[in-house]
Amino acid sequence: MVFKRHRITRRVIEDLKKRSTIGLFFYLILAYVTVFTSTFYSRHEHFAILFLPGITFICVFRLVQVVVSKRNPKYIMGRYYAVFWGSVVSTSIIWGSAFAYILILKTEPEIKLLMSICTTGLCAGGVVAFIPDIRLSIVFNFTMLIPALIFSLKAEIYEFSLMLSLFAGYLCLIAFRGNREYWDAYENEFLLKIKTKELKKISNTDVLTNLYNRRYFDEVFQREWNRGSREDCILTLMICDLDYFKNINDTYGHLAGDEYLKKAAEIILNTFKRDVDIVARYGGEEFVVLLPGCDSAKALDLAEDVRETFEKTSVLYNENEIKTTISFGIVSSYPAHNKHRSFMVAKADKALYEAKNEGRNRVKLSAENNISFSPRSSSK
Ligand code: GH3
Ligand code: MG
Ligand code: MG
Repeated sequence: MVFKRHRITRRVIEDLKKRSTIGLFFYLILAYVTVFTSTFYSRHEHFAILFLPGITFICVFRLVQVVVSKRNPKYIMGRYYAVFWGSVVSTSIIWGSAFAYILILKTEPEIKLLMSICTTGLCAGGVVAFIPDIRLSIVFNFTMLIPALIFSLKAEIYEFSLMLSLFAGYLCLIAFRGNREYWDAYENEFLLKIKTKELKKISNTDVLTNLYNRRYFDEVFQREWNRGSREDCILTLMICDLDYFKNINDTYGHLAGDEYLKKAAEIILNTFKRDVDIVARYGGEEFVVLLPGCDSAKALDLAEDVRETFEKTSVLYNENEIKTTISFGIVSSYPAHNKHRSFMVAKADKALYEAKNEGRNRVKLSAENNISFSPRSSSK
């Protein structure tokens, strides 16, 4: 998976939402405080009647959007983002125009001062909040300040225009820098997640066969044991061991033995294909198979399939045909809270020991299960 910088993902929108929602309450509070300061409201009722409902409507609309997108996660992408963008820019246009209007209005200086302080604060806050989307951050910055800049130029208040321009430029620099830092952090987080996933996979995998290793198997076994005891669901465990494997190493060398182990893993894995089945390398030339929800009769049948496949399989290594067989010890049980899962390993191990003692190349069910099994063709 490749990381694409500046791509607006669900996560980026979530961040934008989180960073900007708190600001909505400040728009509302500051708008009402400014309008109701001194005698402003009574003297400029027409302005207040336009400004207050306008800013209230857009803030409430944005808050509703936040709630709706939280309840309906599908709603967050695509059209939602366009609406989000539109409503943010509408907020800054409304506020920016109100600021410009108050600047040229013949009114108390403290109202102008109050509005200037509120606007610079809200503008800086907004620019920082929208840093994940640099375009939004810049558009917000300009729509907030440009009306006031135009009006101050028209009114020939050049010092004020210069100050506003410098402030807007400074906010742009902050936005670009913050944007770079945001995406660096996001990229690092993304790479860390991938590396963690890779490391987890490596720590759960056997290098030679690519099967799960014993560490992971024990983890899943415990999980399935707990689930089985909760849901009263049968669990089957198989331990299988290659017969006379040492002879392969001694005759053809360790590398030949390794090739055979890979093939053995492939055969076993190809038989136990359900999502819930777990095939792992238990150690050396031993494999374990965990079959949740599978009874002993079905397990015996599957093990017999594997045993027959091994009989028919040979691995070609340095022009030598390498062949061997496999033996199985199987146990099925209903997990219970008052028992430890290790008893299943002991029972399967005992059954495997019996299979070896009786001549190898056979499937043996633990005496615990009391089901007699007649092997198919090989009549072992
Ligand atoms: P049995 O039928 O009783 O199981 O006999 P066996 O020869 O298979 O069993 P034994 O325990 O005597 O030998 C197991 C051999 O498996 C010995 C060891 O060298 C070999 N082995 C274990 N791990 C590996 C491995 O990763 N690669 C190779 N090539 N051989 C391995
Ligand atoms: Mg062996
Ligand atoms: Mg062994």
